[in-house]
Amino acid sequence: MNVEKDYMNAPETGRHLLKCVWTSHPDHERRCELRIPAGVVDAAWQEELELNRWHEGFFHFAWRGDVWLAYGFADGRVRGVYCPEHRAERDARSFTLDSPELALSA
Ligand SMILES: [Zn+2]
Repeated sequence: MNVEKDYMNAPETGRHLLKCVWTSHPDHERRCELRIPAGVVDAAWQEELELNRWHEGFFHFAWRGDVWLAYGFADGRVRGVYCPEHRAERDARSFTLDSPELALSA
């Protein structure tokens, strides 16, 4: 887990915001409204890729003192962002890559 560095100084302008993809289970009626600048997530994922080439999967990163979670692809794209609260909730369960939340974020 690469959470020693905090990405709060990463660029926050010029690109869209990524929304936490969490929804309530099993009805999906509630959605999380927390967002994070895409540039922050991209910067964290770029660094992960440099450490671990051709790797794809979930990664943790710190922003403003809290740990977020996202799913990154080997080509640099990122999707499936989780805010700190829902990241903790998800960490408590076992990961499945074909989860419904991830599909909804596409
Ligand atoms: Zn959330």
